[in-house]
Amino acid sequence: MKKLKRLLRRIFLFTLFAILIIVIYNMIRFGSKQVKVDRIAEVAISDQAVNRLAKAIQIPTISRSTHIDTSAFVGFIAYLNSNFPKTHRLLERKTINDYSLIYKWAGKNSVLKPALFLAHIDVVPVEESLSQWKHPPFSGTVEDGYIYGRGTLDDKSSLVGIMEAIEQLIGEGYRPERTIYLAFGHDEEIGGRNGAKAIAQYFDKKHLEFEYVLDEGSLVLTKGMPGISKPIGLIGIAEKGYATVKLSAKTEGGHSSMPPAQTAIGTLSKAITTLEENPMPASFDGPTGMLMDYAGPEASIPIRMALANRWLFGGLLKKQFAKKPTTNAIMRTTTAVTMIDGGIQENVLPTQASATLNFRIRPGDDIKTVENHIKNTINNELISIKTDRSSRNPSKISDDKAFGFRVIQRTLQEIFPDVVVAPSLVVAGTDSKHYQQVAVNTYRLLPFQLGTDELDRIHGVDERISIENYTRAVRFYHQLIKNSCE
Ligand SMILES: [Zn+2]
Repeated sequence: MKKLKRLLRRIFLFTLFAILIIVIYNMIRFGSKQVKVDRIAEVAISDQAVNRLAKAIQIPTISRSTHIDTSAFVGFIAYLNSNFPKTHRLLERKTINDYSLIYKWAGKNSVLKPALFLAHIDVVPVEESLSQWKHPPFSGTVEDGYIYGRGTLDDKSSLVGIMEAIEQLIGEGYRPERTIYLAFGHDEEIGGRNGAKAIAQYFDKKHLEFEYVLDEGSLVLTKGMPGISKPIGLIGIAEKGYATVKLSAKTEGGHSSMPPAQTAIGTLSKAITTLEENPMPASFDGPTGMLMDYAGPEASIPIRMALANRWLFGGLLKKQFAKKPTTNAIMRTTTAVTMIDGGIQENVLPTQASATLNFRIRPGDDIKTVENHIKNTINNELISIKTDRSSRNPSKISDDKAFGFRVIQRTLQEIFPDVVVAPSLVVAGTDSKHYQQVAVNTYRLLPFQLGTDELDRIHGVDERISIENYTRAVRFYHQLIKNSCE
Protein backbone atom coordinates (compact mmCIF):
# COMPACT_ATOMS: atom_id res chain seq x y z
CA MET A 1 0.00 0.00 0.00
CA LYS A 2 2.76 2.34 1.00
CA LYS A 3 4.66 1.46 -2.16
CA LEU A 4 1.64 2.18 -4.33
CA LYS A 5 1.10 5.53 -2.64
CA ARG A 6 4.72 6.44 -3.22
CA LEU A 7 4.44 5.41 -6.86
CA LEU A 8 1.30 7.48 -7.37
CA ARG A 9 2.98 10.46 -5.77
CA ARG A 10 5.93 10.06 -8.11
CA ILE A 11 3.66 9.84 -11.17
CA PHE A 12 1.83 12.96 -10.03
CA LEU A 13 5.02 14.92 -9.48
CA PHE A 14 6.44 13.74 -12.79
CA THR A 15 3.26 14.82 -14.66
CA LEU A 16 3.34 18.20 -12.96
CA PHE A 17 6.99 18.60 -13.88
CA ALA A 18 6.31 17.57 -17.51
CA ILE A 19 3.45 20.10 -17.77
CA LEU A 20 5.71 22.80 -16.36
CA ILE A 21 8.42 21.98 -18.90
CA ILE A 22 5.90 22.11 -21.78
CA VAL A 23 4.47 25.41 -20.51
CA ILE A 24 7.92 26.98 -20.30
CA TYR A 25 9.00 25.52 -23.65
CA ASN A 26 5.89 26.90 -25.39
CA MET A 27 6.47 30.27 -23.78
CA ILE A 28 10.06 30.41 -25.03
CA ARG A 29 8.98 29.35 -28.52
CA PHE A 30 6.24 32.03 -28.51
CA GLY A 31 8.43 34.47 -30.46
CA SER A 32 7.67 38.04 -31.47
CA LYS A 33 5.86 38.59 -34.76
CA GLN A 34 6.60 42.31 -34.83
CA VAL A 35 8.87 43.50 -37.65
CA LYS A 36 11.97 45.65 -37.32
CA VAL A 37 11.53 48.98 -39.06
CA ASP A 38 13.83 51.94 -39.45
CA ARG A 39 12.74 55.27 -38.08
CA ILE A 40 11.37 57.41 -40.89
CA ALA A 41 11.46 61.19 -41.11
CA GLU A 42 8.13 62.76 -40.14
CA VAL A 43 6.45 64.24 -43.21
CA ALA A 44 5.09 67.76 -42.69
CA ILE A 45 1.35 67.90 -43.35
CA SER A 46 -0.18 71.06 -44.82
CA ASP A 47 -1.67 73.38 -42.18
CA GLN A 48 -4.73 73.59 -44.40
CA ALA A 49 -5.42 69.87 -43.85
CA VAL A 50 -7.41 70.35 -40.63
CA ASN A 51 -9.46 73.11 -42.22
CA ARG A 52 -10.22 70.91 -45.23
CA LEU A 53 -11.44 68.10 -42.96
CA ALA A 54 -13.60 70.54 -40.98
CA LYS A 55 -15.20 71.69 -44.24
CA ALA A 56 -15.96 68.09 -45.20
CA ILE A 57 -17.63 67.50 -41.83
CA GLN A 58 -19.90 70.51 -42.44
CA ILE A 59 -21.60 68.73 -45.35
CA PRO A 60 -24.42 66.59 -43.83
CA THR A 61 -24.13 63.50 -46.02
CA ILE A 62 -26.57 61.49 -43.90
CA SER A 63 -27.93 58.22 -45.19
CA ARG A 64 -31.20 56.82 -43.93
CA SER A 65 -32.93 53.62 -44.94
CA THR A 66 -35.83 55.69 -46.33
CA HIS A 67 -33.94 58.30 -48.35
CA ILE A 68 -30.74 60.29 -48.69
CA ASP A 69 -30.36 64.05 -49.00
CA THR A 70 -29.07 64.10 -52.57
CA SER A 71 -27.99 67.76 -52.47
CA ALA A 72 -25.53 67.04 -49.62
CA PHE A 73 -23.89 64.27 -51.68
CA VAL A 74 -23.68 66.48 -54.76
CA GLY A 75 -22.16 69.15 -52.50
CA PHE A 76 -19.62 66.69 -51.14
CA ILE A 77 -18.46 65.68 -54.62
CA ALA A 78 -18.07 69.36 -55.51
CA TYR A 79 -16.16 69.94 -52.27
CA LEU A 80 -13.67 67.17 -53.15
CA ASN A 81 -13.29 68.59 -56.63
CA SER A 82 -12.41 72.08 -55.47
CA ASN A 83 -10.31 71.17 -52.41
CA PHE A 84 -8.06 68.56 -54.03
CA PRO A 85 -7.29 70.12 -57.42
CA LYS A 86 -4.04 68.25 -58.20
CA THR A 87 -5.74 64.92 -57.52
CA HIS A 88 -8.62 65.82 -59.78
CA ARG A 89 -6.30 66.90 -62.58
CA LEU A 90 -4.23 63.73 -62.50
CA LEU A 91 -6.52 60.88 -61.41
CA GLU A 92 -9.32 59.37 -63.46
CA ARG A 93 -12.68 59.73 -61.73
CA LYS A 94 -15.89 57.82 -62.27
CA THR A 95 -19.26 58.27 -60.60
CA ILE A 96 -21.38 55.21 -59.77
CA ASN A 97 -25.13 55.55 -59.12
CA ASP A 98 -24.72 59.36 -59.04
CA TYR A 99 -23.12 59.70 -55.59
CA SER A 100 -20.43 57.05 -55.20
CA LEU A 101 -16.92 57.68 -56.50
CA ILE A 102 -14.02 55.72 -57.98
CA TYR A 103 -10.59 57.25 -58.53
CA LYS A 104 -7.74 55.62 -60.42
CA TRP A 105 -4.14 56.74 -60.03
CA ALA A 106 -2.35 54.87 -62.80
CA GLY A 107 0.95 53.30 -61.73
CA LYS A 108 4.13 53.13 -63.82
CA ASN A 109 4.27 49.33 -63.65
CA SER A 110 1.17 47.71 -65.12
CA VAL A 111 2.36 44.22 -64.12
CA LEU A 112 1.71 44.97 -60.45
CA LYS A 113 -1.84 44.33 -59.24
CA PRO A 114 -3.47 47.55 -58.04
CA ALA A 115 -4.23 48.36 -54.39
CA LEU A 116 -7.69 49.59 -53.42
CA PHE A 117 -8.49 51.98 -50.58
CA LEU A 118 -12.10 52.18 -49.41
CA ALA A 119 -13.95 54.78 -47.37
CA HIS A 120 -17.55 55.95 -47.27
CA ILE A 121 -19.08 59.34 -47.87
CA ASP A 122 -22.21 58.87 -45.76
CA VAL A 123 -22.67 59.25 -42.01
CA VAL A 124 -25.36 58.16 -39.56
CA PRO A 125 -28.12 60.58 -38.42
CA VAL A 126 -27.95 62.54 -35.15
CA GLU A 127 -31.48 63.77 -34.42
CA GLU A 128 -32.08 61.76 -31.24
CA SER A 129 -28.89 62.93 -29.53
CA LEU A 130 -28.78 66.46 -30.95
CA SER A 131 -29.34 68.28 -27.63
CA GLN A 132 -26.43 66.42 -25.99
CA TRP A 133 -23.75 67.56 -28.44
CA LYS A 134 -21.17 70.06 -27.23
CA HIS A 135 -20.93 71.55 -30.73
CA PRO A 136 -23.50 71.13 -33.50
CA PRO A 137 -22.64 67.84 -35.27
CA PHE A 138 -22.21 69.46 -38.67
CA SER A 139 -20.30 72.54 -37.51
CA GLY A 140 -16.83 71.01 -37.91
CA THR A 141 -15.74 73.02 -34.86
CA VAL A 142 -12.01 72.92 -34.11
CA GLU A 143 -11.35 73.33 -30.38
CA ASP A 144 -8.62 72.30 -27.92
CA GLY A 145 -6.80 70.14 -30.44
CA TYR A 146 -9.92 68.32 -31.68
CA ILE A 147 -12.12 68.49 -34.76
CA TYR A 148 -15.74 67.84 -33.75
CA GLY A 149 -18.58 66.46 -35.79
CA ARG A 150 -20.40 63.52 -37.28
CA GLY A 151 -18.00 61.62 -39.53
CA THR A 152 -14.76 62.62 -37.81
CA LEU A 153 -14.24 58.99 -36.74
CA ASP A 154 -16.61 57.17 -39.07
CA ASP A 155 -15.36 57.68 -41.67
CA LYS A 156 -14.71 61.01 -43.40
CA SER A 157 -11.33 61.44 -41.68
CA SER A 158 -10.24 58.36 -43.56
CA LEU A 159 -11.72 59.47 -46.88
CA VAL A 160 -10.40 63.03 -46.69
CA GLY A 161 -7.13 61.76 -45.16
CA ILE A 162 -6.51 59.53 -48.19
CA MET A 163 -7.25 62.48 -50.53
CA GLU A 164 -4.92 64.70 -48.49
CA ALA A 165 -2.10 62.13 -48.73
CA ILE A 166 -2.49 61.80 -52.51
CA GLU A 167 -2.69 65.57 -53.04
CA GLN A 168 0.53 65.89 -51.04
CA LEU A 169 2.31 63.05 -52.91
CA ILE A 170 1.40 64.62 -56.25
CA GLY A 171 2.74 67.95 -54.98
CA GLU A 172 6.01 66.20 -54.09
CA GLY A 173 6.26 64.97 -57.68
CA TYR A 174 5.64 61.35 -56.62
CA ARG A 175 4.27 58.85 -59.15
CA PRO A 176 3.30 55.37 -57.94
CA GLU A 177 4.73 52.16 -59.40
CA ARG A 178 1.51 50.32 -58.52
CA THR A 179 -1.89 51.60 -59.64
CA ILE A 180 -3.91 52.92 -56.73
CA TYR A 181 -7.70 52.82 -56.78
CA LEU A 182 -9.98 54.64 -54.36
CA ALA A 183 -13.64 53.72 -53.93
CA PHE A 184 -15.98 55.85 -51.83
CA GLY A 185 -19.49 54.47 -51.40
CA HIS A 186 -22.41 56.69 -50.43
CA ASP A 187 -24.62 54.24 -48.50
CA GLU A 188 -22.35 52.13 -46.27
CA GLU A 189 -24.40 52.91 -43.18
CA ILE A 190 -27.48 51.35 -44.76
CA GLY A 191 -25.81 48.29 -46.27
CA GLY A 192 -23.88 49.62 -49.28
CA ARG A 193 -26.16 48.16 -51.95
CA ASN A 194 -26.14 51.18 -54.29
CA GLY A 195 -22.59 52.23 -53.46
CA ALA A 196 -19.99 49.58 -52.61
CA LYS A 197 -21.91 46.70 -54.14
CA ALA A 198 -22.34 48.53 -57.44
CA ILE A 199 -18.69 49.64 -57.46
CA ALA A 200 -17.53 46.07 -56.84
CA GLN A 201 -19.72 44.86 -59.72
CA TYR A 202 -18.14 47.51 -61.95
CA PHE A 203 -14.62 46.32 -60.97
CA ASP A 204 -15.64 42.72 -61.53
CA LYS A 205 -16.94 43.51 -65.01
CA LYS A 206 -13.59 45.13 -65.82
CA HIS A 207 -11.85 41.94 -64.56
CA LEU A 208 -9.91 43.92 -62.01
CA GLU A 209 -8.19 41.99 -59.27
CA PHE A 210 -6.58 43.81 -56.39
CA GLU A 211 -3.37 42.94 -54.58
CA TYR A 212 -5.12 44.02 -51.41
CA VAL A 213 -8.05 46.12 -50.21
CA LEU A 214 -7.94 48.43 -47.19
CA ASP A 215 -11.17 49.51 -45.51
CA GLU A 216 -12.25 50.77 -42.08
CA GLY A 217 -12.95 48.21 -39.33
CA SER A 218 -10.35 48.05 -36.57
CA LEU A 219 -8.29 50.76 -34.86
CA VAL A 220 -5.09 51.36 -32.94
CA LEU A 221 -6.16 50.95 -29.32
CA THR A 222 -4.39 52.56 -26.37
CA LYS A 223 -4.18 49.89 -23.65
CA GLY A 224 -6.06 47.57 -25.95
CA MET A 225 -5.09 44.38 -24.16
CA PRO A 226 -4.39 43.35 -20.56
CA GLY A 227 -0.70 42.73 -19.93
CA ILE A 228 0.39 45.02 -22.78
CA SER A 229 1.19 48.62 -21.95
CA LYS A 230 1.84 49.59 -25.58
CA PRO A 231 -0.94 50.56 -28.01
CA ILE A 232 -2.17 47.68 -30.11
CA GLY A 233 -2.76 48.16 -33.85
CA LEU A 234 -5.48 45.77 -34.95
CA ILE A 235 -5.68 44.81 -38.60
CA GLY A 236 -9.08 43.26 -39.28
CA ILE A 237 -8.49 40.15 -41.40
CA ALA A 238 -12.12 39.02 -41.36
CA GLU A 239 -15.55 40.31 -40.45
CA LYS A 240 -18.40 38.47 -38.83
CA GLY A 241 -21.48 37.30 -40.66
CA TYR A 242 -24.98 38.45 -39.81
CA ALA A 243 -28.23 36.55 -39.41
CA THR A 244 -31.63 37.81 -38.40
CA VAL A 245 -33.94 35.02 -37.30
CA LYS A 246 -37.61 35.25 -36.40
CA LEU A 247 -39.05 32.78 -33.90
CA SER A 248 -42.85 32.42 -33.83
CA ALA A 249 -45.03 30.48 -31.42
CA LYS A 250 -48.65 29.76 -32.22
CA THR A 251 -51.31 28.47 -29.80
CA GLU A 252 -55.08 28.45 -29.68
CA GLY A 253 -56.65 31.65 -28.40
CA GLY A 254 -59.49 32.04 -25.96
CA HIS A 255 -60.53 33.77 -22.77
CA SER A 256 -57.78 34.43 -20.23
CA SER A 257 -60.01 33.13 -17.39
CA MET A 258 -59.36 29.53 -18.51
CA PRO A 259 -55.79 29.56 -19.83
CA PRO A 260 -53.70 26.53 -20.76
CA ALA A 261 -50.51 25.88 -18.78
CA GLN A 262 -48.51 27.93 -21.25
CA THR A 263 -49.58 30.58 -23.77
CA ALA A 264 -47.76 31.46 -27.00
CA ILE A 265 -45.92 34.15 -25.06
CA GLY A 266 -44.84 31.70 -22.38
CA THR A 267 -43.65 29.16 -24.95
CA LEU A 268 -41.68 31.82 -26.77
CA SER A 269 -40.20 33.28 -23.57
CA LYS A 270 -38.94 29.88 -22.54
CA ALA A 271 -37.24 29.43 -25.91
CA ILE A 272 -35.59 32.86 -25.65
CA THR A 273 -34.31 32.17 -22.14
CA THR A 274 -32.92 28.80 -23.21
CA LEU A 275 -31.08 30.43 -26.13
CA GLU A 276 -29.62 33.15 -23.92
CA GLU A 277 -28.48 30.57 -21.38
CA ASN A 278 -26.87 28.40 -24.06
CA PRO A 279 -24.69 30.61 -26.26
CA MET A 280 -23.01 29.17 -29.32
CA PRO A 281 -19.65 27.54 -28.56
CA ALA A 282 -16.55 29.69 -28.11
CA SER A 283 -13.42 29.12 -30.17
CA PHE A 284 -9.97 30.63 -30.49
CA ASP A 285 -9.57 29.33 -34.03
CA GLY A 286 -9.05 31.84 -36.84
CA PRO A 287 -8.50 35.60 -36.35
CA THR A 288 -8.89 35.63 -32.55
CA GLY A 289 -6.26 32.92 -32.11
CA MET A 290 -4.01 34.86 -34.50
CA LEU A 291 -4.53 37.99 -32.41
CA MET A 292 -3.22 36.01 -29.42
CA ASP A 293 -0.25 34.73 -31.46
CA TYR A 294 0.77 38.28 -32.41
CA ALA A 295 -0.01 40.13 -29.17
CA GLY A 296 0.86 37.33 -26.72
CA PRO A 297 4.66 37.45 -27.13
CA GLU A 298 4.58 41.19 -26.27
CA ALA A 299 2.54 40.69 -23.07
CA SER A 300 3.62 40.43 -19.43
CA ILE A 301 4.75 36.96 -18.26
CA PRO A 302 1.48 35.56 -16.81
CA ILE A 303 -0.54 36.60 -19.86
CA ARG A 304 2.17 35.40 -22.24
CA MET A 305 2.25 32.06 -20.45
CA ALA A 306 -1.52 31.63 -20.73
CA LEU A 307 -1.71 32.69 -24.39
CA ALA A 308 1.23 30.46 -25.36
CA ASN A 309 -0.44 27.50 -23.65
CA ARG A 310 -4.03 27.64 -24.80
CA TRP A 311 -4.13 23.80 -24.72
CA LEU A 312 -3.93 24.16 -20.93
CA PHE A 313 -5.43 27.56 -20.16
CA GLY A 314 -8.02 27.71 -22.97
CA GLY A 315 -10.96 27.03 -20.66
CA LEU A 316 -9.85 29.69 -18.21
CA LEU A 317 -9.29 32.21 -21.02
CA LYS A 318 -12.74 31.55 -22.47
CA LYS A 319 -14.32 32.14 -19.05
CA GLN A 320 -12.47 35.46 -18.78
CA PHE A 321 -13.43 36.45 -22.34
CA ALA A 322 -17.09 35.61 -21.72
CA LYS A 323 -17.29 38.21 -18.94
CA LYS A 324 -17.07 41.20 -21.26
CA PRO A 325 -19.28 41.76 -24.34
CA THR A 326 -16.28 43.04 -26.34
CA THR A 327 -14.14 39.94 -25.80
CA ASN A 328 -17.11 37.55 -25.84
CA ALA A 329 -17.98 38.83 -29.33
CA ILE A 330 -14.58 37.94 -30.83
CA MET A 331 -14.65 34.29 -29.76
CA ARG A 332 -18.19 33.16 -30.57
CA THR A 333 -21.27 33.74 -32.65
CA THR A 334 -23.35 36.05 -30.46
CA THR A 335 -27.08 35.90 -29.83
CA ALA A 336 -29.03 39.14 -29.32
CA VAL A 337 -32.79 39.20 -28.82
CA THR A 338 -33.69 42.54 -30.36
CA MET A 339 -37.48 42.64 -30.92
CA ILE A 340 -40.53 41.00 -29.39
CA ASP A 341 -44.18 41.03 -30.32
CA GLY A 342 -47.26 39.27 -28.96
CA GLY A 343 -50.70 39.74 -27.44
CA ILE A 344 -53.49 42.20 -28.25
CA GLN A 345 -55.45 42.67 -25.06
CA GLU A 346 -55.05 41.99 -21.34
CA ASN A 347 -57.89 39.41 -21.12
CA VAL A 348 -57.37 37.67 -24.46
CA LEU A 349 -55.07 34.68 -24.87
CA PRO A 350 -52.51 35.45 -27.56
CA THR A 351 -52.70 33.16 -30.59
CA GLN A 352 -49.23 34.16 -31.65
CA ALA A 353 -46.00 35.63 -30.29
CA SER A 354 -42.80 36.32 -32.16
CA ALA A 355 -39.27 37.43 -31.41
CA THR A 356 -36.46 38.66 -33.62
CA LEU A 357 -32.93 37.55 -32.85
CA ASN A 358 -29.78 38.98 -34.36
CA PHE A 359 -26.76 36.70 -34.60
CA ARG A 360 -23.24 37.86 -35.48
CA ILE A 361 -21.52 34.83 -36.94
CA ARG A 362 -17.84 34.15 -36.31
CA PRO A 363 -15.70 32.59 -39.06
CA GLY A 364 -16.02 28.84 -38.58
CA ASP A 365 -19.81 29.02 -38.10
CA ASP A 366 -22.32 29.90 -40.82
CA ILE A 367 -26.05 30.52 -41.25
CA LYS A 368 -26.71 26.78 -41.29
CA THR A 369 -24.88 26.15 -37.98
CA VAL A 370 -26.84 29.03 -36.41
CA GLU A 371 -30.15 27.53 -37.56
CA ASN A 372 -29.16 24.09 -36.27
CA HIS A 373 -28.10 25.58 -32.95
CA ILE A 374 -31.49 27.30 -32.54
CA LYS A 375 -33.42 24.19 -33.50
CA ASN A 376 -31.46 21.87 -31.19
CA THR A 377 -31.35 24.30 -28.28
CA ILE A 378 -35.05 25.21 -28.09
CA ASN A 379 -36.09 21.71 -29.18
CA ASN A 380 -39.76 22.69 -29.53
CA GLU A 381 -41.78 21.95 -32.63
CA LEU A 382 -44.42 24.53 -31.71
CA ILE A 383 -41.93 27.25 -32.56
CA SER A 384 -41.18 28.05 -36.17
CA ILE A 385 -37.80 29.45 -37.19
CA LYS A 386 -37.39 31.77 -40.16
CA THR A 387 -34.09 33.26 -41.30
CA ASP A 388 -34.26 36.66 -42.98
CA ARG A 389 -32.99 36.96 -46.54
CA SER A 390 -30.60 39.76 -45.55
CA SER A 391 -28.48 37.25 -43.60
CA ARG A 392 -24.93 36.60 -44.73
CA ASN A 393 -22.07 34.30 -43.84
CA PRO A 394 -18.81 35.60 -42.34
CA SER A 395 -16.18 36.96 -44.74
CA LYS A 396 -13.19 34.97 -45.87
CA ILE A 397 -10.13 35.19 -43.63
CA SER A 398 -7.35 37.22 -45.27
CA ASP A 399 -3.76 36.02 -45.16
CA ASP A 400 -1.44 37.51 -42.55
CA LYS A 401 1.56 36.44 -44.66
CA ALA A 402 0.39 38.22 -47.83
CA PHE A 403 1.91 41.43 -49.20
CA GLY A 404 -1.03 43.59 -48.08
CA PHE A 405 -0.82 42.55 -44.44
CA ARG A 406 2.94 42.93 -44.34
CA VAL A 407 2.88 46.39 -45.91
CA ILE A 408 0.14 47.63 -43.55
CA GLN A 409 1.99 46.18 -40.56
CA ARG A 410 5.24 47.82 -41.61
CA THR A 411 3.53 51.17 -42.18
CA LEU A 412 1.78 51.00 -38.80
CA GLN A 413 5.07 50.31 -37.04
CA GLU A 414 6.74 53.19 -38.89
CA ILE A 415 4.02 55.72 -38.11
CA PHE A 416 3.16 54.46 -34.58
CA PRO A 417 6.71 53.58 -33.36
CA ASP A 418 5.71 51.69 -30.19
CA VAL A 419 2.63 49.90 -31.55
CA VAL A 420 2.08 46.15 -31.28
CA VAL A 421 0.47 44.94 -34.52
CA ALA A 422 -1.98 42.04 -34.54
CA PRO A 423 -4.63 40.55 -36.84
CA SER A 424 -8.20 40.76 -35.54
CA LEU A 425 -11.83 39.93 -36.18
CA VAL A 426 -14.16 42.84 -36.99
CA VAL A 427 -17.50 42.28 -35.26
CA ALA A 428 -19.48 44.85 -37.26
CA GLY A 429 -20.08 45.01 -41.01
CA THR A 430 -18.09 47.16 -43.46
CA ASP A 431 -18.34 47.96 -47.17
CA SER A 432 -15.42 45.61 -47.81
CA LYS A 433 -17.76 42.59 -47.68
CA HIS A 434 -18.97 43.56 -51.16
CA TYR A 435 -15.47 43.38 -52.66
CA GLN A 436 -14.70 39.73 -51.93
CA GLN A 437 -14.91 38.71 -55.58
CA VAL A 438 -12.25 41.22 -56.66
CA ALA A 439 -9.66 40.66 -53.92
CA VAL A 440 -8.33 37.62 -52.08
CA ASN A 441 -6.99 39.74 -49.24
CA THR A 442 -8.90 42.51 -47.50
CA TYR A 443 -7.73 44.35 -44.40
CA ARG A 444 -9.78 46.59 -42.14
CA LEU A 445 -8.16 49.36 -40.15
CA LEU A 446 -8.53 53.07 -39.46
CA PRO A 447 -5.11 54.47 -38.52
CA PHE A 448 -6.50 56.38 -35.52
CA GLN A 449 -5.28 55.73 -31.99
CA LEU A 450 -8.16 55.75 -29.50
CA GLY A 451 -8.68 54.77 -25.88
CA THR A 452 -11.43 52.23 -25.27
CA ASP A 453 -13.38 55.02 -23.48
CA GLU A 454 -13.53 56.97 -26.76
CA LEU A 455 -15.14 54.21 -28.81
CA ASP A 456 -18.67 55.25 -27.78
CA ARG A 457 -18.24 58.42 -29.81
CA ILE A 458 -18.41 56.38 -33.04
CA HIS A 459 -22.08 56.75 -34.09
CA GLY A 460 -22.47 58.49 -30.69
CA VAL A 461 -22.50 61.95 -29.12
CA ASP A 462 -19.59 64.40 -29.56
CA GLU A 463 -17.85 62.38 -32.25
CA ARG A 464 -14.42 63.96 -32.65
CA ILE A 465 -10.86 63.30 -33.77
CA SER A 466 -7.71 64.88 -32.38
CA ILE A 467 -5.63 66.93 -34.79
CA GLU A 468 -2.69 64.70 -33.82
CA ASN A 469 -4.65 61.60 -34.82
CA TYR A 470 -5.81 63.12 -38.08
CA THR A 471 -2.42 64.37 -39.26
CA ARG A 472 -0.87 61.03 -38.28
CA ALA A 473 -3.54 59.26 -40.36
CA VAL A 474 -2.58 61.40 -43.38
CA ARG A 475 1.06 60.42 -42.79
CA PHE A 476 -0.03 56.77 -42.57
CA TYR A 477 -1.77 56.83 -45.97
CA HIS A 478 1.13 58.82 -47.48
CA GLN A 479 3.60 56.19 -46.26
CA LEU A 480 1.33 53.22 -47.11
CA ILE A 481 1.08 54.27 -50.76
CA LYS A 482 4.88 54.59 -50.94
CA ASN A 483 5.45 51.27 -49.18
CA SER A 484 2.91 49.56 -51.43
CA CYS A 485 4.97 50.56 -54.45
CA GLU A 486 8.27 49.11 -53.25
ZN1 LIG B 1 -17.94 53.44 -41.26
